[in-house]
This record gives sequence, structure tokens and C-alpha cells, in this order.
Amino acid sequence: MHVHLREPGQTAKGDIAHETAAAKAGGFGTIVAMANTTPPTDTVERWLAMQERFARDAQVQVIQCACMTRERAGQEPVDAAALKAVGVIALSDDGSTPQDTGVMREVAYRAAEAGLLLIDHCEDPTSSRRGEIDFATRDLELARETGARFHLQHLSAAEAVEALRDAQKDGLPVSGEATPHHLAFTAEAVTRWGTNAKMAPPLREERDRQALLTAVADGTLAAIATDHAPHTAEEKALPFDQAPNGIIGLEAAFPVCYQLLVKSGLMTWEAFLDRLTAGPARILGIEVPSIQVELDLNADNLLNTNNFHSKSSNCPWDGYLGWGKVLSLKPF
Ligand SMILES: [Zn+2]
Repeated sequence: MHVHLREPGQTAKGDIAHETAAAKAGGFGTIVAMANTTPPTDTVERWLAMQERFARDAQVQVIQCACMTRERAGQEPVDAAALKAVGVIALSDDGSTPQDTGVMREVAYRAAEAGLLLIDHCEDPTSSRRGEIDFATRDLELARETGARFHLQHLSAAEAVEALRDAQKDGLPVSGEATPHHLAFTAEAVTRWGTNAKMAPPLREERDRQALLTAVADGTLAAIATDHAPHTAEEKALPFDQAPNGIIGLEAAFPVCYQLLVKSGLMTWEAFLDRLTAGPARILGIEVPSIQVELDLNADNLLNTNNFHSKSSNCPWDGYLGWGKVLSLKPF
């Protein structure tokens, strides 16, 4: 549901060939690519150019989001109807949700009319807990007002999860996701991993982590999504406040989440598979091609980032003890 391929424009960090190889190795046959490419994927022309790149280099199926606003600048809504007409199914400004509610309202009305899903990153520029709660609440209210479908990306605060749960009880067309890293770590991980545990939203408290685990188990969060975000070693070597947000995760997701959610007894194997496959497909409103993933569920899995396929290795997963291995994925 949430991958950054970095192509075009940021290929020192990652590219379609490497990041989709990571997806395949991680067991993902279909991924959703964010639109914060350089230039941003905000027009029909740019979106179609991405399809050509995928046809050439992608090792798995890629669903490319288009931006919510032109240049991801948060001011002028994109032409949702024209994007829908060429095959776009979802809009996202990813790391920079429109801060102006009037703009977001206009985006939501257009998306509702075109039948597009809005995938939103509920945050203020400081990634504060308050900001996440406020923007999640704003989006849930806009879903009620406009009828637009909202999917809330990588929630991290217990209160935002609770707001989503309440909105779902009211029957609103809203969904949410959690990342493997917010399920696995709290802010303490930063003391060990430094900038390799720096992301937006940040790792929070144990009570938040527990709320996320519960919400994935009970289905409030119907998708596990990696927010796979490659950055170069040079960028991550910058002082903490200057280093970019984000970590890679496609190849850690399965063993980390299997261990945390199934091995722990928190949820059934069937429900867990749903959060990785049918859950995201339902949110997107798509049929995904049938694939065959061969797994070894009989052993623990000490992660070694040297074996990862991403172009970058920024993450706190090296040496993490997960459970289960993805052995192969067919028919890709
Ligand atoms: Zn992201």
C-alpha cells in the first residue's frame, strides 16, 4: 500500500528495478508507489510515463498513485477526472498532506466524484502527536461531508487509531494502515539506530505500539504497509535533525510481522494474510493477480540487510529476529 521507488529523479536512493526486486523478495506481488517522484506524478502525462517505466523495469505489479495537488504543493487540486480516465485509482501527496482544509475539501469532492481513493499522510510539518490526531480527525470529517473514501497512511498515535475505529463504527468509508516498524519499535530505538530509526510519523510510545498491534489484529487497520523509503548512506549520515525521514522495509515486513502478530498468538494466520493481501486490495477496490508465494514458517529469521535487494540499506532491521522466510514468488 505504501512504497517509494524514487524513480524518476532520486535514483541515488532507489529505482524501480531495485525496489521492485525487494518487493518480490519480500513476497509482495503488487505494490502501490507514492507520487513524490521528481517531478511529482501529478498529471496524466507524468502518470503515463511511469507506466512505461514499469513495463520496462518492474519485477512486480505497480499501482502508481497520482498526487492530490499540483506539484504536491498543497494548493491546487489535480485534475482527478482526467487521471481517473487513464486508469488512476488513488491520489496521495504522501509526506505533505494539504495543510489547508479548504484545499483538502476540494480535493475530496473531486475524488468522490471521480471515484478515486484518497491516501493521506495525517501530519503537520513537525510530525507531532497532536498534528496526527488533528489531521486524521479532519480527514474523517471530510469523508463524512464529501463521501470521499479516505485511507489513512501509517498511523502511529493511539488516539488517531481510536478516531478511525469510531468513524468505521459510524459506517464511514475510511481505512488505515500500520507499518512493521511502528508495530515493532518505540522511540527508544532511536538511541540505538539513530537516523536509521528516523521516520515520519516518528516511533512513539509503548501504549501506541500496543494500540497499533490491537488495531491490526481486530481489523481496524486492514493493511500492513511498509512505507519502504530508501535514502543513501550519505543522507542518513547527516546530523539527526537534518537527515531525511524514512526506512526501507519490504524485505523485513513478513518475518517481522509474522513474529509479532501470529507467532505471538495475537491473530490467526488467515487474518494476518488478509492484512497483507485481500485487506489492501479491498481498500484499493481492485482485484490483484493470483500469485504463489512459497514460505518457510518452520524457523526464525535473523535479518541481515546485506541480503536485501533495495538500492539503499537505511533501516533498523539488521540483526532483528523475525520468524519465517519468503522463499519465492511466482509467476513473476
Ligand atoms: Zn511514505
